[in-house]
Amino acid sequence: MADTNYDVLIIGSGPGGYVTAIRAAQLGLKTAIVEREHLGGICLNWGCIPTKALLRSAEIMDHANHAKSYGLTLEGKMTAKVEDVVARSRGVSARLNGGVGFLMKKNKIDVIWGEAKVTKPGEIVVGASSKPAVQPQNPVPKGVKGEGTYTAKHIIVATGARPRALPGIEPDGKLIWTYFEAMKPDFMPKSLVVMGSGAIGIEFASFYRSMGVDVTVVEVMSQVMPVEDAEISAIARKALEKRGMKILTEAKVAKVEKGSNSIKAHVETKDGKVQVIEADRLISAVGVVGNIENLGLEALGVKTDRGCIVIDGYGKTNVAGLYAIGDVAGPPMLAHKAEHEGVICIEKIAGVPNVHPMDKGKIPGCTYCNPQVASVGLTEAKAKEQGREIRVGRFSFGANGKAIALGEDNGLIKTIFDKKTGELIGAHMVGAEVTELIQGFVVAMNLETTEEDLMHTIFPHPTLSEMMKESVLDAYGKVLNA
Ligand SMILES: Cc1cc2nc3c(=O)[nH]c(=O)nc-3n(C[C@H](O)[C@H](O)[C@H](O)COP(=O)(O)OP(=O)(O)OC[C@H]3O[C@@H](n4cnc5c(N)ncnc54)[C@H](O)[C@@H]3O)c2cc1C
Repeated sequence: MADTNYDVLIIGSGPGGYVTAIRAAQLGLKTAIVEREHLGGICLNWGCIPTKALLRSAEIMDHANHAKSYGLTLEGKMTAKVEDVVARSRGVSARLNGGVGFLMKKNKIDVIWGEAKVTKPGEIVVGASSKPAVQPQNPVPKGVKGEGTYTAKHIIVATGARPRALPGIEPDGKLIWTYFEAMKPDFMPKSLVVMGSGAIGIEFASFYRSMGVDVTVVEVMSQVMPVEDAEISAIARKALEKRGMKILTEAKVAKVEKGSNSIKAHVETKDGKVQVIEADRLISAVGVVGNIENLGLEALGVKTDRGCIVIDGYGKTNVAGLYAIGDVAGPPMLAHKAEHEGVICIEKIAGVPNVHPMDKGKIPGCTYCNPQVASVGLTEAKAKEQGREIRVGRFSFGANGKAIALGEDNGLIKTIFDKKTGELIGAHMVGAEVTELIQGFVVAMNLETTEEDLMHTIFPHPTLSEMMKESVLDAYGKVLNA
């Protein structure tokens, strides 16, 4: 008879679930992971990775369109075949998806294929999947277990999230897309309305604009990328508009009329005026909601809040032996948050000493549009709202040698310090490669670095990273190159 008893059972193999499984195995725990659809979850198959592959094609397109400014001549016009761009992106996902299967095998983690439901503390039943794999890249790995009853001392729910739907504007997969259809378009639309300007909406808006699509972004808040620092968001908006994107803020899509192969979005602005925007498709990017349904959570009395499972800083729910991590455990809904939350959770379970609870104030956020946006910690407005006395430093890409050499001289690095202690409490960036730069400030914040430590740090020349130091110097009236 198959062995069905484990130390840890993890439901969901996204970045939260699979990383937790690996750490559990490293800690000597007998571990199994249940997956109903795709190893690697949304992140590898429909989120972080395939979007970055699409955006890489967009970046090359943008560079090619500016070849002349680099002294290069491109004979003819650069064109994109949508099926080839999508095929590359799907190929990248497939490679990483296979990589997760390999990692499970290497770490001797059992993969149980099917849909899990928690029947009582310490027990799950795995049934047939209600969401069979939608892509041929996801064959059921050989030698995995399937439907049945499994037991474990600890059960971790890592079931992720799915697109939020607005009543009356529900995605239909044809005229109103979610990220699933936007990731794998069967044709290149001529025009698009993107509803919502968070990271997902803006990344798709940026990709399609680079592909020559007429894009209108509609955002209900007063700025694009509403969680970002207002100054950074304003610079990004200007740059996106310069690239030909239309952006409407303090505006909402009130109604969508569907034609046979196009839509009419009725957009209501703050002053009560309605404009009708006709487009081939509308992408609904109004956030995501946790996958908390059909897991048996209600029967167990698991506390939830606004579609997510309520946990403490170590992933514990209110039911003994039941934990939750990643998107299903609430915002920020980011892959690196999911991974870190999982590691904290499993190390606590295994009794690793000195495990720190999750500190949500130090989670970086990145948006890979053109120009990129990245941040960590408090925005200037949030710091002021908290009544903190602050010092703010700024340094523009236009004054950095490497940025000019790259032909990427539009952007800003902004740093926020606590005036009394000198502690770095926020860093915000817009411009080329800032999604790679931000980690420098994340490490600094984690080490509770002050302005002095940063000023004593030597940054290599010529790099974009020099602007990080200059921004710090600027906060203290010592900027050198501006
Ligand atoms: C378009 C897009 C772009 C994104 N870009 C980024 C980015 O650049 N950076 C970033 O950090 N984040 C990004 N994200 C967010 C990121 O994808 C999520 O934060 C991350 O995937 C969450 O990981 P998770 O492990 O919590 O859940 P998921 O990755 O959603 O995985 C959950 C898994 O659980 C499985 N599952 C669900 N219910 C069951 C069940 N009952 N039984 C068995 N299996 C089940 C699902 O099939 C899924 O595979 C993006 C998201 C989208 C949609």
